[in-house]
Amino acid sequence: MDGLVVILGAFSFGLGACIASFLNVVIWRVPRGESIVSPPSHCPKCNTAIKWYQNIPILSWLALRGKCANCKAPISPRYILIETLGGLLFLAAFWKYGLTIDTPVMWIWISLMIVGSMIDFDHKLLPDFVTVGGMALGVGFVMVKVALAALCMGGFDFALASPVLVSMIGLVFGFGLLWLIRFLGSKAFKREAMGLGDVFLMGAVGALFGPIAVLVTLILSSVFGSIVGVSMVALSKTKFGKFVEIPYGPYICLGCLFWMFCGPEIVDWYIHLFAH
Ligand SMILES: [Zn+2]
Repeated sequence: MDGLVVILGAFSFGLGACIASFLNVVIWRVPRGESIVSPPSHCPKCNTAIKWYQNIPILSWLALRGKCANCKAPISPRYILIETLGGLLFLAAFWKYGLTIDTPVMWIWISLMIVGSMIDFDHKLLPDFVTVGGMALGVGFVMVKVALAALCMGGFDFALASPVLVSMIGLVFGFGLLWLIRFLGSKAFKREAMGLGDVFLMGAVGALFGPIAVLVTLILSSVFGSIVGVSMVALSKTKFGKFVEIPYGPYICLGCLFWMFCGPEIVDWYIHLFAH
């Protein structure tokens, strides 16, 4: 059994790194309106096609020491970082959710979050296929789960449907809460306080993990976002009170990751804080 776990863990890491390698292409090409299949990967400087053995996630970047094999132009360390991150998060999802249908669904969600975060960093926008896709994934997944449970039990029971309800309440709650914050923030600052993409993204968090996850993700993402925002102001010596624009999507994703991997521990800690 232990051997199998090691093999499946290694498979999860490898799959995550390979998919993240493809996500690197998506992150670069989709916002530029380019096709993600053609032309095949090439060096942006000398246009030389990248051979398959120069395109192995993580290993090729290390073997080439981060330089194009032909013209020695530097290849951004971002590629290897995202591939490693993809591998680690896929492995973590396998470790957390094990041999269940939750694991591949979490892999899809992790992939969407990686793409969304990086595109938001680069272009200050969240693509619909990430945000609306995440909402559809959340609601669709619980529906499939309920249908499978009904099939196994040989009949439908309304008690089975409660996860669908939790998912839909989560979606409406996440979407509604951020919409309200966006509305009030925009009134207070007299400018758009956050993008509509962030509102949809929180709807996806709710659809996938329910309303409590929305609250925890909102709190964590605000803390992470504030820390980064304040450090940016401090480092750049910009005057306080000046509007610094930082993308919020990556912090929603970071908060959601904390929820996925240590959600119950966070809620426990919070409850104990007040119990004493
Ligand atoms: Zn080159």
